[in-house]
Amino acid sequence: MRILLVEDEIKLAHAIKRALELQKYAVDVANNGKDGLDFAIGEEFNLIILDIMLPEIDGIEICKRIREAGIHTPVMMLTAKGQISDKVTGLDVGADDYLVKPFSFEELFARIRALVRRPAQTNDPVLSKGDLTLDPKTFAVKRGGKLIELSAKEFSLLEYLLRNKNTVLNKDQIISHVWNYDSDVLPSTIEVHVKHLRDKIDIKGEESLIHTIRGRGYTIRE
Ligand code: CA
Repeated sequence: MRILLVEDEIKLAHAIKRALELQKYAVDVANNGKDGLDFAIGEEFNLIILDIMLPEIDGIEICKRIREAGIHTPVMMLTAKGQISDKVTGLDVGADDYLVKPFSFEELFARIRALVRRPAQTNDPVLSKGDLTLDPKTFAVKRGGKLIELSAKEFSLLEYLLRNKNTVLNKDQIISHVWNYDSDVLPSTIEVHVKHLRDKIDIKGEESLIHTIRGRGYTIRE
């Protein structure tokens, strides 16, 4: 899951980024409206968190423009206390939710989970393939009931594959969903992560849960 955070308060932006990274999201930060808009239009995200009061272009205008550009990524607005009209305007221009500052990270995480959840998965948030399960809420990954320790990237990679079962995901798609823009990721890095993930989730002597489709990418089949 990749998130764009547009926030001009550097300290707050840094704190939110760190907290989200601990929740295993890949996070890109823009500190002004112009960069935020460029990012939102030029890159692919699962969620955009948009502060309203921003230098250059404000959050309301950014939201309006990304919707006009045909981008339907969920948008969560951050609004200062008491700016009720901001909330209304934000929702009018296509934001999906808003959060009033100051907010707790717990609330932020809960709202994010609600926004990025896909309709088909609302009844069963735990993802699975055979006896392998992944719980996006608790980060618990189990095979045959036994807990498996994964790194943040391995977890994101497995979650992405499980959310898109039967779809072959190429390396560019994997890079843009699992890593953030600053990361210098080579296709060989993906191969290394897939190998490590397989070492942890597969059972020796059995076929890997992750199929390699030569020249095209990776998939988990139902
Ligand atoms: Ca601000």
